[in-house]
Amino acid sequence: MSAASSENNDVLSVGGIDLTRLAGRAGRTPFFAYDRTAIDDRVRSLRNTLPAGVGLHYSIKANPMPAVVHHLATQVDGFDVTSATEMALALNAGMPAGRVGFAGPGKGHDEMRRAIASGINIHLESLAQLHLVTALGWELGVQPSIALRVNPDFHVGHSGMRMGGGATPFGVDASQVPELLRELKACEVALAGFHVFWGSQCLHARTVIDAQRRSADLVMRLADGLATVPRYANLGGGFGIPYFAGEMPLDLAAVAGAMHGWLQQLRERLPGIDVVLELGRYLVGEAGVYVCRVIDRKVSGGRTFLVTDGGLHHHLAASGNFGQVLRRNFPIVIGNRLHDVPAERCHIVGCLCTPLDRLADDVPLPDTHIGDFVVILQSGAYGRSASPTDFLGHPDAIEMLV
Ligand SMILES: *Cc1c(COP(=O)(O)O)cnc(C)c1O
Repeated sequence: MSAASSENNDVLSVGGIDLTRLAGRAGRTPFFAYDRTAIDDRVRSLRNTLPAGVGLHYSIKANPMPAVVHHLATQVDGFDVTSATEMALALNAGMPAGRVGFAGPGKGHDEMRRAIASGINIHLESLAQLHLVTALGWELGVQPSIALRVNPDFHVGHSGMRMGGGATPFGVDASQVPELLRELKACEVALAGFHVFWGSQCLHARTVIDAQRRSADLVMRLADGLATVPRYANLGGGFGIPYFAGEMPLDLAAVAGAMHGWLQQLRERLPGIDVVLELGRYLVGEAGVYVCRVIDRKVSGGRTFLVTDGGLHHHLAASGNFGQVLRRNFPIVIGNRLHDVPAERCHIVGCLCTPLDRLADDVPLPDTHIGDFVVILQSGAYGRSASPTDFLGHPDAIEMLV
């Protein structure tokens, strides 16, 4: 994303196309636009910075738009999926089944059967899932490929959304893994690897480094009693992106620097093992914008409200209702007045008839008119697909990869 230089440098552009033309292409607002060049740049910087041979997986749930998934299929080494729909997306995009991992605490009978039939790696999260996989493998005459999703026996601080350590529905507690491995020996399944997911949206390099090192240690401990070296260790992702004022980008160079140490140890102890990181928002989050338009402007109780044609039904995260404890504003600009100086403070709201539908509270803005573009940045992940699109029945948002 950048200011279009040629015609009108006051207008934001995405992928080299300015907002007016993008809106023309979409046919209407609101829309999401994802910049493929920005995605490519992100993948390239990861490849250039991380130690050689570290696999990059894309977690499809961050942005399941088929064009985005297809685009990433040739850039990353694998996909992580969490449902039969995402599984089909991954396979339709041409990703080989052996490089797709299927995680989730509640895997249904039908999706499990499909995953086994297509040869996807099933990340088991309970003893019951092991029994189901074994039974379905027998029924289908296929040996399922499985990995154990381990709930790590450590906590990490600073992580935005903690999903590992302590009591959780995700994965199998590290302390229960030896028992599960004993049970596994009696089952006709192939253990492909371990999956350790310790958290999400972490901007603090020291925390990521610590979590990765502890995850690698955990995998080494768990693999100790195995007859063969597992094919892969998925050590989670957790790389965050800055959303709010004062947040700094993750120091990727520091994370990469520390990786060399534990990676060498892991590779010596478990020769041939592939180390994989699974990233969602870090790959696509900063590559997307959400664009809606001001359709009304009013003053109430001395405050100016800009009402837009967008809202939480497209972008729940920006409204602050997607797991945030304290509501904070996503970065927001008036896309056709990029360089105008702030002239007023406004509240930007969506068009839904609920007080939850706030897009920005008390933001300094240039003099803003009906028809102007409100652009929410950092909207490439957990946008449309993480929003209640049917709520109140307004039109869906368009999505474009440009
Ligand atoms: C959601 C999820 C991810 C991706 O998280 P991001 O914060 O988008 O990087 C990775 N792995 C698992 C198991 C997940 O559930």
